[in-house]
Amino acid sequence: MKRRAVFLDRDGTINVDVGYPDRYDRIRIFPCAFEAVRKLNAAGLAVVVVTNQSGIGRGYLTEADLSDIHRRLESDFKAAGARLDGIYHCPHFKGSADPAWDADCDCRKPLPGLARRAAADLGLELEGSYMVGDKVEDIRFGLAFGGRPVLVLTGYGEASRDALRREGVVPAHVAPDLGAAADWILDREREDGPAGRR
Ligand SMILES: [Mg+2]
Ligand SMILES: [Zn+2]
Repeated sequence: MKRRAVFLDRDGTINVDVGYPDRYDRIRIFPCAFEAVRKLNAAGLAVVVVTNQSGIGRGYLTEADLSDIHRRLESDFKAAGARLDGIYHCPHFKGSADPAWDADCDCRKPLPGLARRAAADLGLELEGSYMVGDKVEDIRFGLAFGGRPVLVLTGYGEASRDALRREGVVPAHVAPDLGAAADWILDREREDGPAGRR
């Protein structure tokens, strides 16, 4: 039986958005994030980070820098008893000086490439899965893979709420932060029952 997932944006959702951090010591994780992930783990949901990292294509950090950041992020969550089932990123930047990253890719949110890749790797049911993020592109991404997108008001969330209204894009829910988003998701799971038994 395939599991549903909660996809999480990184900057502005899990941690303070400082713009293209190139070292882990620049990452400040929101205190509510650990408990939120623990609760989602306990509910049997996969928790998968999906992050646009055009800073690689722009030459602000390398793939090695990003791997190091994500290894430490996973290990800090693990130390707090929380499991990240995967971290997927888009390194591309149209117009990059490095031809390796200069691409019209299908993995930059709001395009659903990262969700599809994670679903294939981890055996996820995308329909009815969740996406939590602070930007318009996160909400559009959640809709693009057939999921339930939740806007958090941390990071760029307040400005994104206004932009979503202007654009007529409606998230499934708006939550103050990742902790409240996780609680809303757990309520939906209790209503729906596990994937495959609806
Ligand atoms: Mg963000
Ligand atoms: Zn990409």
